[in-house]
Amino acid sequence: MPRPKTTTKSDEKALTPRATDFSAWYNEVVMRAELADYSPVRGCMVIRPNGYAIWEQVQRALDQMFKETGHQNAYFPLFIPESFLSKEAEHVEGFAPECAVVTHGGGKELEEPLVVRPTSETIIYAMYAKWIQSYRDLPILLNQWANVVRWEMRTRLFLRTMEFLWQEGHTAHATEAEAEAEARQMLHVYRTFMEEWMAMPVVTGRKTDSERFAGALRTYSCEALMQDRKALQAGTTHNLGQNFAKAFEVTFQTQEGDLAYVWNTSWGVSTRLVGALVMTHGDDHGLVTPPKLAQYQVVIVPIYKSDEERTRVLEMADHVHRELRLAGIRTHLDARDGLKPGAKYYEWEGRGVPLRLEIGPRDVAGGTVMLARRTGGKKESLATEGLGRNLREIMDRVQEDLLDAARARREAASIRGVTKAQFIDFMAADGGFAYGGFCGNDRCEMEIKEQTKATIRVLPDEEFRSPTAPAKCMWCGQPSQGEAVWAKAY
Ligand SMILES: [Zn+2]
Repeated sequence: MPRPKTTTKSDEKALTPRATDFSAWYNEVVMRAELADYSPVRGCMVIRPNGYAIWEQVQRALDQMFKETGHQNAYFPLFIPESFLSKEAEHVEGFAPECAVVTHGGGKELEEPLVVRPTSETIIYAMYAKWIQSYRDLPILLNQWANVVRWEMRTRLFLRTMEFLWQEGHTAHATEAEAEAEARQMLHVYRTFMEEWMAMPVVTGRKTDSERFAGALRTYSCEALMQDRKALQAGTTHNLGQNFAKAFEVTFQTQEGDLAYVWNTSWGVSTRLVGALVMTHGDDHGLVTPPKLAQYQVVIVPIYKSDEERTRVLEMADHVHRELRLAGIRTHLDARDGLKPGAKYYEWEGRGVPLRLEIGPRDVAGGTVMLARRTGGKKESLATEGLGRNLREIMDRVQEDLLDAARARREAASIRGVTKAQFIDFMAADGGFAYGGFCGNDRCEMEIKEQTKATIRVLPDEEFRSPTAPAKCMWCGQPSQGEAVWAKAY
């Protein structure tokens, strides 16, 4: 998109280009769009209104999808008795190092320290043990929207912070098959959301044991490739088997009258998705938001010189604003005085608003508006008659184009059927998704990680696999157990 022609304010410095320093670019985009800010507590983040508005759109869409698949929301406490965490051996090993622990309250030392939840399996399954007696009580399909705390040392806005917002689904089922179907169903829900709402293509599949959730039988993941060709784990679902049921004595009477342990799943996505959105679509001018998740889908900028023009232009801008809002389009009218149109363009561009309408005296006379897309292309004049319907169609196209462009970028950054030598070169250069045979041996996995920093993102689901299954492990040459997708990851 061409730069505005008006003079720029002194703080309108160009962003660091993505190609120069992607990580600096990312921080600048987040700050310029006012999505988040650093907090007085190191490692924590303040989510500012523009960032929170995106998160609210994410929540709204996902919450509806969860409810459509039969889930209800509930809320469990922030504090978990420390002893709960140690009941599941793998779970405590995985989470204890990053737990915040409360030892004092009300001026006294607590009898039992309380862990600030890093995730809620333990407290939720302790409650399920109370609520579940018979097969008639199953399944339980709950979700909670909450914050969690993990004591991270190296933090990045949205991507890794000590406290973050997320949703965690927790279900209990009578059979392993049902739990497996639930974990797969929610992976599909995540994928649908990421592709249709975020316009972010993902590769889905199973995690290897070394990347599995602490305490799970199987972990499934949605993996997206960012513009710097690093992978981002965007959402995971877990078939927990009976591990937590056994630790918390979650049993039920079967139809046959026997006593059995339930089968659990858990699944979550977090405010990390806002970071994923930035890194998937942003450009050197700032944030690009897919219309479906934008706080404002359309911003109207009135253009006038004299007071007389101002009156006429604002009257029409007001009218268009009302009409679009009535048509269900999230629209903002930027009627600020004393700020040149160019400065407004610049600001809304940095904030990623998909469509901008300019209305000047000539538009008032002709019953038209001038449309500029955040994603570029020529400006076009549109009639105010039928504008809502017209903009909707344009937004649908923008949404699709963003997904297509992201998919094309990912495919251009993917290599299939790699040999060891190609793999080493690929990871040493720009990197991306590398598909190759894997022997299933975790020693191979570790060696690859040490030498190339790449990890297995997933053992991909069938539709993502290469047409011919690899015969050998790309690293050690032993027979391949299946295809794997490697990348360097966030
Ligand atoms: Zn191997």
